[in-house]
Formats: sequence, C-alpha cells, structure tokens
Amino acid sequence: MRARGSSIEAGFECAHCGRDVFADALGTKHRNHCPWCLWSLHLDDRPGDRAAYCGGEMEPVAVEVRKDGEWALIHRCRACGALGANRIAGDDNALVLVSLAVRPLARPAFPLDRLEHGDERELKR
Ligand SMILES: [Zn+2]
Ligand SMILES: [Zn+2]
Repeated sequence: MRARGSSIEAGFECAHCGRDVFADALGTKHRNHCPWCLWSLHLDDRPGDRAAYCGGEMEPVAVEVRKDGEWALIHRCRACGALGANRIAGDDNALVLVSLAVRPLARPAFPLDRLEHGDERELKR
C-alpha cells in the first residue's frame, strides 16, 4: 500500500484487489478507482483534490448516467459512509460496470409484476 499523500499520478496498487493500477487512464485525468474491481480510496473531497483524511476503502455501489450520456460511478466509503461520484475510465471493467447498473433490476425491492398493475391504475384516472 502506498503512503497517504503520495502522488496518485504515478499509479498505485489497488487496496481492494491488490492489482497494479496505472495512472494514465483513457478518458480521465484523475484515476481514482481501480479499473479491475472499481473500488476506490477516500482521498478526495472533490475529484483530484486529495483533501480527505479518511483513507477508507470506497465501494462502488451504483452507476449514474449524466446528461451527456457519460457514466459515473457512485462510491460509498466503508469507513465514514461518504458518497462520491467519479467518471468512469475507458479501461474500466465493463462487466463489473454493467452488473452494478442492473443490480436494482436483478434484486428488485418489490415484485416487478406489480408495476404493470400500477400503470393501469394510473391510466384509468
Ligand atoms: Zn482493484
Ligand atoms: Zn471515508
């Protein structure tokens, strides 16, 4: 593990899966998560500022689609619970990204067949 405060631009070893992560990523200047497992570290208050002193592991919990169609990862810090959004990089693991994106559909909090009946009631009003 690298020391806190050292430059991330030189690359780092992922604290979660242990793989080497290179700093130059496609589509981002601030590589802040591992392209293999998508986990991050709580180092920034804002992307790239390195102002957070937490240092906890940040778990990828969701995918956000921005106005321009770009995807962002939502991370939640396991140590302090802070949420962060980070642009995905061109070499991020697509399988992990997609499995995050469909997670709510794969594990719905309510029976999906109810949706249909709910729509009918809306239309009859
Ligand atoms: Zn990793
Ligand atoms: Zn934290």
